[in-house]
Parts: sequence; structure tokens; C-alpha cells
Amino acid sequence: MKELKELLRQTEFSRDDLTRLISLEAQDDREALYRAAYAVKARTVGRVAYFRGLIEFSNICTKDCLYCGIRKSHRGVRRFESTKDEILRLAKWVWENRYGSVVLQSGERTDPKFVGFIEDVLRGMKELSCGELGITLCLGEQTEETYRRWFDAGAHRYLLRIEESNPALYARFHPQDGNHVWEVRDRCLTALKKIGYQAGTGVMIGLPGQTAENLADDILYYRRKGIDMIGMGPYIVASGTPMGDAVEASGGNTAEEKRRRFVLGLNMIAATRLALPTVNIAATTALQGLDPRGRELGLRAGANVLMPIVTEPRHRPDYQLYDDKPCVEDTSEECLACVTGRVRWAGDEPGFGSWGDSRHWYERRGRSPEPGREAGEGIAGTLRKPRRVIEIRCAAAPREELQTVGK
Ligand code: SAH
Ligand code: SF4
Repeated sequence: MKELKELLRQTEFSRDDLTRLISLEAQDDREALYRAAYAVKARTVGRVAYFRGLIEFSNICTKDCLYCGIRKSHRGVRRFESTKDEILRLAKWVWENRYGSVVLQSGERTDPKFVGFIEDVLRGMKELSCGELGITLCLGEQTEETYRRWFDAGAHRYLLRIEESNPALYARFHPQDGNHVWEVRDRCLTALKKIGYQAGTGVMIGLPGQTAENLADDILYYRRKGIDMIGMGPYIVASGTPMGDAVEASGGNTAEEKRRRFVLGLNMIAATRLALPTVNIAATTALQGLDPRGRELGLRAGANVLMPIVTEPRHRPDYQLYDDKPCVEDTSEECLACVTGRVRWAGDEPGFGSWGDSRHWYERRGRSPEPGREAGEGIAGTLRKPRRVIEIRCAAAPREELQTVGK
């Protein structure tokens, strides 16, 4: 077998190579893996963590994924739906605090009222920020026409986790009712790319019965599919769900098991960074759900995106995809201070005021990042760009900021 050192210097990785990296357990080996992945990140996308303020605006869902805490059949959930004004107020906060981008996330709905509502919200967000706010959607499976309408209204990134790239395993984690079909989800990703979105996907890590080989296949799926952004995280039990209750009953939710899923989560980030150097990778909240330093360790392992929760505080307790979700009791101001500290602890710079678009996306379109605006070449310029540059161009800017312009 190859020396680990040798394997970490490679630029191409086979299924066996990836399986070996994902399975590393010894502390020294894992640290070597994370160091190698961090070095690749520093070289390709920079030592910058980009922010996307996460607005979880409704927990109403028409689906019944067996693992999810807000699935349709979960009777214990108090359902909520934010208004357009509420969402726009949160988006304005994100823009004023220079996160650069928002992610709009909710349960899955495809009815015309919902589709029109999102379109309206998107136009409102673009208007209030004079087009400054980058917008990622995470609203599940939709028709190509809906994706196109939302793209035309201003969204430019879409996150749709494949959840599990193996269709047979996917079928085990979803009801077989015709409403949870792997091929449909896969086709949605194809459509998103065709329309021009930066396409994001990901999987849950540490699902019952999932092997390291399955996870290696997930990375190969990202590559085959030409994915620009990855949002993946450990599976965490959600009580009152069919999968969560079964895992709990079979003794699969011990501290040791949680640790195993956490380590797998970090190893997956690092192996993905090595195999796909220029994609954006998020250090997800679920990592922090299993370890208080989860997100910064994710950045150290090669991730370059954070999604601080900016959801309306009163709705946070009702958007629990899994148990003990972190940040539920925090305000957005607390989250801002907290994530900035975490980024610096990890040795990165916060990418304030930048969209932080995926370098992979530029490469696949044969374009280079636009200086001063996007990831890559423009990083330094964007970080140094004073906020007032934005204000001069935009009448919707906050008053106190406008006053600084003339100084
Ligand atoms: N309804 C949309 C978006 C909201 S769910 C969709 O499903 O695409 C966002 C993500 O939460 C899902 O993609 C899933 O990967 C994750 N998730 C759901 N339940 C989870 C759990 N118990 N542990 C970890 N992640 C979970
Ligand atoms: Fe709904 Fe998404 Fe949860 Fe599935 S994972 S039940 S689609 S919110």
C-alpha cells in the first residue's frame, strides 16, 4: 500500500484512494489529511471564508424524508410561514452586515402560490440591495420552468443535496410513494446547471448502513456531475422520525457513534477538497451540532463557506431538522460576532461584502472571476473594498453609512 504522504500529494484520486482517506482514524493521519486539504484550499480558492446568511423562512413541507425533523408527517412540529416583509427585513440585515449573500431555505412546496411568492421575494431582495446581495436557493425539487423563473428573478446559486448518490441507498431513506425519486432529484441538478445556476449538492454523512465506499462514490458523483458547490454534513438523529427512532432504539446514537459521524464529516470535506480543488465547500451547522468547534475544524479541513443562521429568532425552535441544532437561542448579531471569531481562529479571513462565487463555476464556463466581486483573483480587492463604495451606488443604503461617505 502507498505511503499516506505520497497519496496526499496526488492530484487524481481513485475510488480506493478516496475510501482510504475517508476512513482515516488515527489522529496523526487525520491531521496530515486536513493539513494537505487546507494547503490546497489556500492555493486554489484562498484562505477566505465566505458567508451566506441562512434564512429558514418556512417549515411547511410536502415531503416525508425519513430522517428529517420537519417532515410532513411529524405531528409534533408547529408549522410557520414567514411573510415577504419579514424575509426582506432579514435580507436587509444580511446586506447591511456585509455577509454578501443569503440562502433562502424551507420545506419543499411546488404550488403556484409558493412559486410566485418566492419570485416576489427575490425581486424584493435585489431591489433593496441594489442588486448587491448574492442569492442561493435551497427549496428542493421543482420543475425546470420554476427554476428558470427564480433564476430570472435574481437567484444565481441553488443547493439541492442528492442526499445519497447511490439510488438503492437513497430509496432506503425515503418513502417509496412516487414523491421521493432519486432520478428526479438527479435530473433537477442537470436542469439547474443548464439554466446557468451555480449548482450545489451534497450528502448526509454517517447514515445507517452507509459505508466509506459509498461516501467515496458520493465524491465521484460530485465530479461526474460537474458540481460547483458542496454542502454536506453529518447525519444527526431527529427524534420522532422513523429513522431517528430506529437509530436510537438500536443503540446507534451513542457519544462514540456521534464522534464517528463527526470525524467522517471532516474527512469527507478534506477528501472532497483534494479531489475537487476549486469547488466551494460549506462547513455546515450540523458539524457544530456534534462538536462545539465543528465549523472551524471544517474550515481547517478545507471548507471555505459558512452559513450563519439569520432566521427570525422566534421561528428558530420550529426549524429543527435534527435534535439539538446549534444557534437556536442566538440572535443574528450574536451569530455574526461568533462566526467572525471562528473564522479567525481557523486562520482564515472573513470574506465580508463578497459573493464568493465558486471558482469551479467560472472554470466550467471558461471565464475568470471578476476582480473585486467574486472569489479568486478578486479576493484581496473585495476584502479591502470599503463599504461606502457600495453606498455611493445605492440609494437604499442605511443612513448612518451614507453619512460616512463624504468624510
Ligand atoms: N427541503 C429542502 C431544503 C431543506 S432541508 C430539501 O430537502 O432540499 C435541507 C437539508 O437538511 C437536507 O438536504 C438534508 O440533507 C438536511 N437534513 C435533514 N434532516 C437531517 C438530519 N436529521 N441530519 C442532518 N441533516 C439533515
Ligand atoms: Fe422536507 Fe427537505 Fe426535510 Fe425532506 S429534507 S422532509 S424535503 S424539509
